[in-house]
Amino acid sequence: MAEAKFKKIKSKAKMKEILADNFKQLDEASRTGSKPIAWCTSVGPAELLLSMGFLVYYPENHGALLGATRECLEYIPKAHAIGYSPDICSYLTSDVGAYLAGKTPLRAAYNMDVPKPSVLVFNTNQCRDVEEWYLYYAREWGVPIVGVHTPRGVTDVDEPVIDYITRQLENLVEPLEKISGTKFSYEKFSEVVGLSRRCTDLWWNVLSSAANVPSPITFFDGTVHMAPAVVLRGNAIANDYYETLLEELHDLIEHKVAAVDGENIRLYWEGMPIWGKLRDLSTFFLSQQTNVVASTYCNSWVFKAFDAADPFRSMAHAYTELLVCRSEEYKEAYIEDVCKEFKCDGVIFHDARTCPNNSNNRYGMPERMIKNHGIPSVVINGDLNDLRCYAEEQSRLSLEAFIEQIRQGK
Ligand code: SF4
Repeated sequence: MAEAKFKKIKSKAKMKEILADNFKQLDEASRTGSKPIAWCTSVGPAELLLSMGFLVYYPENHGALLGATRECLEYIPKAHAIGYSPDICSYLTSDVGAYLAGKTPLRAAYNMDVPKPSVLVFNTNQCRDVEEWYLYYAREWGVPIVGVHTPRGVTDVDEPVIDYITRQLENLVEPLEKISGTKFSYEKFSEVVGLSRRCTDLWWNVLSSAANVPSPITFFDGTVHMAPAVVLRGNAIANDYYETLLEELHDLIEHKVAAVDGENIRLYWEGMPIWGKLRDLSTFFLSQQTNVVASTYCNSWVFKAFDAADPFRSMAHAYTELLVCRSEEYKEAYIEDVCKEFKCDGVIFHDARTCPNNSNNRYGMPERMIKNHGIPSVVINGDLNDLRCYAEEQSRLSLEAFIEQIRQGK
C-alpha cells in the first residue's frame, strides 16, 4: 500500500477566519439582541432573510459539526428518549439531543452557545424532517415558524411549480417584516441574490477543478471548503474566499499537483458524507490511489438559476432544482452526466440509514446505472451522524473489492 500523505490547502486558514467572524457576530447578536437571528434550513430562502437584516444560522451545519466531532453519539439517545425515532434524521436527533444535554461543539470551536432565533425558516425541498426539527424548537421556545413546502419527485421545474414556490416565498415577506422590524427592499433582495449567484459560480469552479486529471482536490476537501457556500452565501466575504481558493487551485492544476498521489481511479460519492469517518475514509482512498472527485452532496450548493434581475422567481427555480427533490429519471441522468464530466470510473452509493432522502440506491438506481450507462457502483451502509449504523469493516472490504474490480477492468 502507498503511504498516505494529505495535501494541505493553504486557503483553509482564511476560511477558518471568516467562519469564526460569522459565529462571533451570531453570538453577539444572540447575547445582546442587537440583530434578529433567523434559523434557516441549508437550502432555505437565506437571501430573503439576509436582505431583511437577519443574521442567518444553519442548524444542519451544527448537525454536521456534531457528527464530525462524534459528540452526537452521546446526545442522539436523548432525543430518542423523548420520542424522536432512531429512523429519522440523525442531524435532528443529534441537535435536539445536544440541546437536551445543554452541550454544543460551538463552545470548543467558537466559545459560544447555540444562538437563539427570532424566527425559524424552513424549506421542505430536502425533506419533511427539517420542518419537524424546527417545530420542536417552535414549541419549546414559542418562536414563530414560517416556511416553504416544495413538491417532491419533480422531473421538470416548470412554470406551475415555479409559480407555486414563488407565491410561498412572497408570502414570507409580511411576517418577516414584522419579526425583523425591517421593511422589505426589492433592490436589497436583488443585490443579495446577485451575491449568491456569484458564490454559486465560484463554488462550482472550485468543484469543477476536480474534473482535471489529476484532480487537485478530493470530495473530502469539498466537504470542508463548502462551508462558506452553505453558511455565508449572499455575503461578499464568501465570494472573496472562493476567489482566493481558486487562485491556489489554478496553481495546483498548472503544476499537475494531485490531491491523491498516483491517482489512477476516480469515483463519484452519491449520498450524505459520513461525518465522523471523513478522515478514515480519505486516508483509505489515499492508500488505494483512488480519488473521489465528484459528489451530489457538494454540488447541492450550486444554484445556477439565481438571477438578480428576477430574484423571487429565480430563487424559486434554484431551490427546486436540487437533486434531492427530483424524480428518479432526472437523478439518473444527472449522475451519468457528472460521471462523464468528471471522468469517474464508478459510483459509491452511501445508503444513510436516517436519510432516505439522500440515499439514492433504494429504487434500483445502481442497477440502472450499470444497465443503461455501463457505470459500475457499490453500496455501503452507514449514516451521516449515527455511527452505530455504519458497517465499517464490511464497507472497507466492499470498497477494496470494488476498486480492485475497476482496476482490473482498466
Ligand atoms: S435531507 Fe437528510 S440529512 Fe438533510 S435534514 Fe433531511 S433527513 Fe436530515
